[in-house]
Amino acid sequence: MHKKLMIYALTFSCALLASTINVSDATAESKKRFISIGTGGPTGVYFVVGNAVCRMVHKEAAEGRKKGRKHGIRCSAPSTGGSNYNIGQIKEGELQFGVAQSDWQHHAVNGTSKWAGKQFKNLRAVFSVHPEPFQLIARKGSGIKSWADLKGKTVNIGNPGSGQRGTMEVLMKRRGTKVSEFKQATELTSSEQVGALCDGKVDAIAYTVGVPNGAIGQAIDGCGAHFVNLNSSVEKSLVDENPFYAFANIPAGVFYKGQKSNVTTFGVMATFVSSSDVDATTVYEVVRSVFENLDSFKKLHPAFKNLNPKEMIKNGLSAPLHDGAIKYYKEKGWM
Ligand code: GLU
Repeated sequence: MHKKLMIYALTFSCALLASTINVSDATAESKKRFISIGTGGPTGVYFVVGNAVCRMVHKEAAEGRKKGRKHGIRCSAPSTGGSNYNIGQIKEGELQFGVAQSDWQHHAVNGTSKWAGKQFKNLRAVFSVHPEPFQLIARKGSGIKSWADLKGKTVNIGNPGSGQRGTMEVLMKRRGTKVSEFKQATELTSSEQVGALCDGKVDAIAYTVGVPNGAIGQAIDGCGAHFVNLNSSVEKSLVDENPFYAFANIPAGVFYKGQKSNVTTFGVMATFVSSSDVDATTVYEVVRSVFENLDSFKKLHPAFKNLNPKEMIKNGLSAPLHDGAIKYYKEKGWM
């Protein structure tokens, strides 16, 4: 039996939990603090995650109102290059939070894969969000039915810094596929690639993204593109060897009307991360805002439908939890 990353129910579990801390009572604070959350392309789900977090943070704020928390936090969540870009900018102190794939969280904190020689020991997990299957999508008429058919085709391997670019490189290495075997490898961003696919400029694209996603819908329903299965012995070995990967199914016709057959691929979790350099009071307030308003949060995207606190505080998290998050989870009796 292989691990399964269900769109509805997940089977990840790896959490390293640390010590307790004292966080001063934030209600007493009213100093303005600005936080930035790194997301992904504007057509992805990370952009919604970041902006949903900011919305909950501002909703909880007492400023201009009689009731609420005087936490003084002002939040913004700009569009970015994705997972590895976000982690890198958190490391530099340019971003305080970011959304990142669970595979890249793992590699960054351990200094492995793309993060070899650049280990980010202060990376901290905050919570996980939705599952993200790695989706390989081929253009109608491209003749691409399997990974092997990518040979001689124009393939968008993604922009450097994106999670899908990293995961594509991992898969190419494992498959023994070189960029030179493609007719051309493009580096379009997630928001550029669907237009290029539908215009026939590229034959296949890869995207690690929550389900459903508007851009994927545009490719499948809008121009007849199709998913390619990634469930061979190669992907099985990746899933078996790595705690942050699991298989996922996207059933035909459920999320995308034009999807004619079920697809099986491997995937990761989207996770919300920060740094131990970000103070515990800020992290506590952000986490509190999200979980005190989780029902409103869940309504902001269909991929959030099945979020559940008990899973969010452990699934897909390999970096230690941030002290500010631990304080809130302990208060709630979740830890
Ligand atoms: N998983 C993608 C990345 O790490 C982003 C997906 C999204 O924007 O929702 O770059």
